[in-house]
Amino acid sequence: MPELPEMEAWRRALDGPVSAFPIEQAGPAHIATLKTIDPPLSALEGRRLLGAERRAKRLMFPTEDGELVLLVHLMTAGRLRYLRAGEAGPKTPAFRLRFQGGAELVLTEAGKKKRAGVWLLTPEEAEAELAHLGPEALDLGSERLGEILAGESRRLHSLLRDQRVIAGIGRAWANEILHAAKLSPYALTQDLTPHQIAALAAAIDSELERGLQLRESGANDKRTYRVHNKLGEPCHVCGTPIAQVDFEEHTIYYCSECQTGGRVLKDRRLSRLLR
Ligand SMILES: [Zn+2]
Repeated sequence: MPELPEMEAWRRALDGPVSAFPIEQAGPAHIATLKTIDPPLSALEGRRLLGAERRAKRLMFPTEDGELVLLVHLMTAGRLRYLRAGEAGPKTPAFRLRFQGGAELVLTEAGKKKRAGVWLLTPEEAEAELAHLGPEALDLGSERLGEILAGESRRLHSLLRDQRVIAGIGRAWANEILHAAKLSPYALTQDLTPHQIAALAAAIDSELERGLQLRESGANDKRTYRVHNKLGEPCHVCGTPIAQVDFEEHTIYYCSECQTGGRVLKDRRLSRLLR
């Protein structure tokens, strides 16, 4: 799933183009993709977008007149593309905006499952839709992070991915951040020393900034990640092969030398059975 660096890179790329021309035609949209019916998509036609904004992993496109907001959540497999006039695009995108002059913004989704979503909302509805999200991960700072950690009793990897607590980090960047901070994915939030909290706050910023720079330059996953999806490859710091712990929904990647004092992490459900 695209996370803060990926979404922010796309936001920056789309901000200028989407506001260049008024919308000529909004839709069609796949029935599973469009999550709202009132106002209808056609309410966008003739209006101009102000630009692209981002909150957590969502993109928002407010209209210039301040009356409507198009909200997009790409989930795991959704992709947004801006096609210049005449540029070939997908035949049946999950959602399409056509601008005067012929450019298009298209949402495609790989695979059969339609999970990405598009909402057309009033600014008040958009605010309510986003109200459950925690503060943005980038530039959170160690003081604020310390307050958040003190109020939660959880393992770090799980906390970092919880959008209600900190917004913008998912499974990939949680792996990268914890490695950079030299912290175990299983460390408990309330056990961190002030020094470790400062290291985690610094790692959140440095890793998300590194990711953003790489994504803006077009880097793929393989080049961007140093720990995530790197099972068995040498740790870029110490050379130890990267290890993994499997869960039903995701996999944690880590370096046992840099992060867990040489200990191999066990799947908690399995170790509970063996105890
Ligand atoms: Zn290492």
